[in-house]
Amino acid sequence: MRILLVEDNVQLSEWLARTLERERYVVECVGNGEEANFRLRTEVYDLVILDLGLPQMRGEDVLRRLRARNSHMPVLILTARDDVQSRIHGLDIGADDYMIKPFDVAELEARIRVLLRRSANQMNPLVQCGNLMFDTNTQQFSVNQQPLLLTPREHALLHTLMMKVGKTVSKQAIFEALFTVNESVSSDAIEIYIHRLRKKLQSSQACIVTLRGLGYLLTHDAI
Ligand code: CA
Repeated sequence: MRILLVEDNVQLSEWLARTLERERYVVECVGNGEEANFRLRTEVYDLVILDLGLPQMRGEDVLRRLRARNSHMPVLILTARDDVQSRIHGLDIGADDYMIKPFDVAELEARIRVLLRRSANQMNPLVQCGNLMFDTNTQQFSVNQQPLLLTPREHALLHTLMMKVGKTVSKQAIFEALFTVNESVSSDAIEIYIHRLRKKLQSSQACIVTLRGLGYLLTHDAI
């Protein structure tokens, strides 16, 4: 899951990015509104964490422009503005949630999970593919109740496939879920991760199907 973090306080931004990366999110940080607006016009994210008081372009304007482009990307405002009027205004112009600094990071993570579940139309925190289970609260995969041990990239890959179980996921979408724009990776990298993941899924009923030229699909019946 790819998150755009828009925050001009570098210390807070770096700390929060590290914290979210430990929860296996891919996090891209930008420190001003102009850059945020540019990224949102050119890249796809699963969620945006948006500060309001930003240099160059206010957070409100970044959000307004995003919604004017008819984007449904989930946006969580994270701001020091704690008055009710600002909160109402933020929600009225299209934010999905509003949190006030200082904040509890466990609560922020829980709210992120809610927004991601909602945008995936996945209200049940457990996702299943045969005997492969994914708990969206703990972010753990398991096979027959036994935890499946995965590296961060394998986890990101399986997560991307699992959230679209039974549907084709393009190579491009996988690429974006696994790597930030700043990483230069060869396009074969995905095949290597797919190969490793297939090995780890051998004991489960889930399997990854390659659809030549289209992408990959996670299913529990061989097709
Ligand atoms: Ca700020």
